[in-house]
Parts: sequence; structure tokens; C-alpha cells
Amino acid sequence: MSVERAEILVDLAAVRHNVRRLAEVTATPVMVVVKADAYGHGMVACARAAREAGAAWLGVSSLREAEQLRAAGDTGRILAWLTVPGEDWTPAVAAGVDVTAYTRADLDAVGAAVAAAGVPARLQLKVDTGLSRGGAALADWPDLVAAARAGEADGRWRVTGIWSHLACADEPEHPANAAQEAAFRHALAVAEAAGLEPEVRHLANSAGALLRPSARFDLVRCGLASYGLDPAPGHLDPALGLRPAMTVQARLAMVKPLGAGEAVSYGHTWRASSATTVGLVPVGYAEGIPRAAGNRAEVEVGGVRAPIRGVVCMDQFVVDLGAAGAGSATAPGDRVVLIGPAPAPSAQEWAEACGTISYEIVTRLGGRFARHHIDEPDEPDELDEPDGEETTA
Ligand SMILES: *Cc1c(COP(=O)(O)O)cnc(C)c1O
Repeated sequence: MSVERAEILVDLAAVRHNVRRLAEVTATPVMVVVKADAYGHGMVACARAAREAGAAWLGVSSLREAEQLRAAGDTGRILAWLTVPGEDWTPAVAAGVDVTAYTRADLDAVGAAVAAAGVPARLQLKVDTGLSRGGAALADWPDLVAAARAGEADGRWRVTGIWSHLACADEPEHPANAAQEAAFRHALAVAEAAGLEPEVRHLANSAGALLRPSARFDLVRCGLASYGLDPAPGHLDPALGLRPAMTVQARLAMVKPLGAGEAVSYGHTWRASSATTVGLVPVGYAEGIPRAAGNRAEVEVGGVRAPIRGVVCMDQFVVDLGAAGAGSATAPGDRVVLIGPAPAPSAQEWAEACGTISYEIVTRLGGRFARHHIDEPDEPDELDEPDGEETTA
């Protein structure tokens, strides 16, 4: 198999499979979250795959990301949810993006965009039910709702959605889940009493969608699970069958023997206790390989695991080919798989080695990696899978 110097391969059929599985298992329309370049998987290509698999909505953080999706030809519903004061909401409003207000100041900004764009906005309201991140505090909610209703009554916008975000969805037994859901139901009641009739009420991210059926409401916002990664390690039924979409691979730049007692990389944090063979992998923290992976994570070379030795540098790191017996069979130019199907490590294994979550591992990958999308036709049985009423998990 020909491998570039260093590349990220993204399997769009896997993205489609995952999006279909999420819709089946949750029996709820899915918003595929494609923010942050689709968690490092490529926003435009993944958005297209998500739509092909039936995604009713796409979700992004910034207005700019939503505008990029429109510029790439996406005409479906898109929600954007994080702005700063002074931002111009006009292009997003003009492009029919659903925008999110947290405050009355946001409503003023949307009103200005409506005047400039000459079309009413699609507006969603976010309430903070306990994450203490974005969204209106419950104390400010009645006021925001009243102002939003007034703007709807005079034709500035239509309030299309009301939503919130969970803090502890990956810990299904955490009491915050029930507390946030109750607060959300209360906020919805306040909004409805004020005359709002949102099309979509939504609360759940991937983990909430899969683990908490009562949090699904009208729409589930799935990011990580759409890319085939596990949003709640240890809690999901493997029968869910999500397929990781990303493979990360490179070619060994160099292979050389190392004598007993010789040390590797900056700071000499690892020293060979016996003679071995090391290989040089031509990517580093500039490509998003965590520096913390030094002496902790592994890669696959020739079907066996090779541990990283010494610290990860900006452009490169060193792996121990002797440790697993891969050394003698290995030559410069051989393929090294950083993340991929077994026996290669998963993004989750990298996360555990580095003390983080798989979200951070995949999202940060970039730099000088080439990225290629593989798009093969779906298996015939993908297309006629029955609409499940399964509620997992
Ligand atoms: C990123 C994000 C999501 C997606 O979360 P996952 O855990 O990746 O499914 C959903 N909603 C909001 C508001 C987000 O910021």
C-alpha cells in the first residue's frame, strides 16, 4: 500500500454508517456536529457524508463555520452557537443559518443582522441548565424568552429551537444528568408559557443521545460518535457497532541500531537498557501528536506495537522497533500506523496514554499531515437496514 510521508485517511462510508446507526438507535433526528473541522476529520467532506446518511441538521460552533458550509453548497439546516460581542451575524442570517442567542445583547445583534440582511432570522435560544458555560442563566431566562417572543411577534425572527448542553453525559449515573434535564423541562415550560413554539428542543450530545433516552427530545447533537469514537468509554454496548472513520499513518524516515545505554530525544528521558533498533516517525507536536505521548503511547509497525521512546519533538519522534521484535524486518519507508484498526492503537488508547480524551487526540491532528477522504459505496445492507426502535445501551 502506498503511503504518503504522513497522512490522515478518513473513511466517509464509516461516517455515513455511524450517522445511520445513531438515527436508528436513538429513533430521533440527528444533528451531526462538524465543528472544529469535523473533529479533525474534514468539515466539508464529513458534512456531505452526514447529509447523505440523512442528517437533518449540522451543528457548528462559529458563524464562520456555518458560512463555510453554505459556501460549500450545503442548503440544509445548520445551527451555530458561539459568538463574541461585535461579530457580524449578517452573512449567517442572510444564508438561513439557525443562530443561537444567549443574551439580550445577542438578540440586538441578530436584530441588526435581520435589518441588514432584509430577511427574518431563524433563532434558537440556549439556556444554561448547569454546565455553567454558554447560555442564559435560569434567572435571566424569562427575560430572554420575553424579548425573543416580542421579536418573533414583530417578524424579526422565528424562534426555531430551545436547547441546552449536558455536563456529565458520559457518566450516566451522575446526578447532574437528571438535574439538568429537569431544569431544561422547566425552561421549556417557561418558554411555552410565554408563547414560544420551537420546532426543536434539544439537550443531548453523543453520550446523552446513546445513554439517556429521556434526554433525546426532538433532536440529538452527535459529534464524536459520528466519527466512530466512543463518547463514554466503558458504558456503551459494543453491539452499537460504530466504526472509527480515521486512520493515521506515516512512513518511517529512518531505521537504525541503538546500543545499550544510549539515550533518545531531547532531555534523554529514555535510555536503552539493551541494544535495540529504533525508527524515526516524521510527525510531531506541530502535527498535533501530544508531547505527553513521549514514553507512553505506541504505534504499529509491521503488525506489532512499537512504543514511543523519549519525548515527541516538533517534527518527529522515535519508536522502539526492537521491543516487539519488529526491528529486523523493518526498513526505512515502511508504514507506521499511529491510529487505526487493531493491531494499531485506537484514538482512545492514545487518549489514555496521554491523560486526555479521544476528542482532543483526533481534533488536534493536522499540521503537515496530508488528509485524504476515502469514499466507497455503502454496503448494500446499509441501505435497507430497518428503522430500528432499539433504544440501547
Ligand atoms: C461539541 C458539541 C456537541 C457534540 O458533542 P459530542 O460529545 O461530540 O457528541 C453537542 N452540542 C454542543 C453544544 C457542542 O458544543
